[in-house]
Amino acid sequence: MTSSDGERVAEDGRRWSRTRRAEFALQQLRAEIDEPATELRYESEYELLVAVILSAQCTDRRVNEVTPAFFEAFPTPRALAAATQEEIFPYVQSVTYPNNKAGYLAEMGRQVMEDFGGALPETIAGLRELQGVGRKTAQVVASVAFEIDALPVDTHVFRVANRLGLTKEGAEAADTPRKVERQIKRVIPKQDWGEAHHLLILHGRYTCTARNPDCPSCPLTPACRYYARKERLPAPLDELDAARGPLFCNTCDRYFDAPATHIDRYEQEQIACPACGSMQVFDTDDGEPTKTVPDYRV
Ligand code: SF4
Repeated sequence: MTSSDGERVAEDGRRWSRTRRAEFALQQLRAEIDEPATELRYESEYELLVAVILSAQCTDRRVNEVTPAFFEAFPTPRALAAATQEEIFPYVQSVTYPNNKAGYLAEMGRQVMEDFGGALPETIAGLRELQGVGRKTAQVVASVAFEIDALPVDTHVFRVANRLGLTKEGAEAADTPRKVERQIKRVIPKQDWGEAHHLLILHGRYTCTARNPDCPSCPLTPACRYYARKERLPAPLDELDAARGPLFCNTCDRYFDAPATHIDRYEQEQIACPACGSMQVFDTDDGEPTKTVPDYRV
């Protein structure tokens, strides 16, 4: 449903606030996703930490391929601490950045043994002291292994939260993971942070994918800001004459080749007609509108 000024409203006629969107999304995703949990395979807190370090900029599937042999060779922090970067490298060479990660893991093993008595620190701050452990990794391990309230933002959470409209726009747009984290923590109840993290990741991995979100099968369309704006884009035009110019303005019925630009109300730069300033501009090759909807990625 759409209000008179074009904003999306819910069935009951109320606007979709960020909080309502978050409530609706979690409710729908809970019904869709049976087991909202990490897809990394691990059997101890130590194994989880190793797997999360290896998963930076890498797929969980690839990490799950290398960790069985890794955990057999280095089953404890003590075993890892006794290994050199060169000894670790062959076990991780098929993940991204294997040299760096082998070095981080060697140092992490030594830190756990020397600074933490052989057990992982059980706080986000403590985990962040370990080599290879940034803000996101520390929060994932703290949340999953130690049940500490945390809402880490990875590439999937970042994209889905922005598309859905759990974040702000314009001058306050959430264009970094840290901003997304701050903003979504305000609209998702603290007790749901851990579950929300997994639900949003799994939704982003399998439905709301980066290149080709499967909106037709998505249960979140009624609340989704990105979907609503996509739906409002003009339909493609038939029978444009590309020989008369690469662009066509449907407002003043004119072909042209040197476009103007216009910043729309969502702060997105759009192609505009140089004569009348309209953004109802179409590509004459395929008839598609040139107007785009903001889509944040990291
Ligand atoms: S409706 Fe489309 S863009 Fe929105 S969350 Fe679903 S898949 Fe993603």
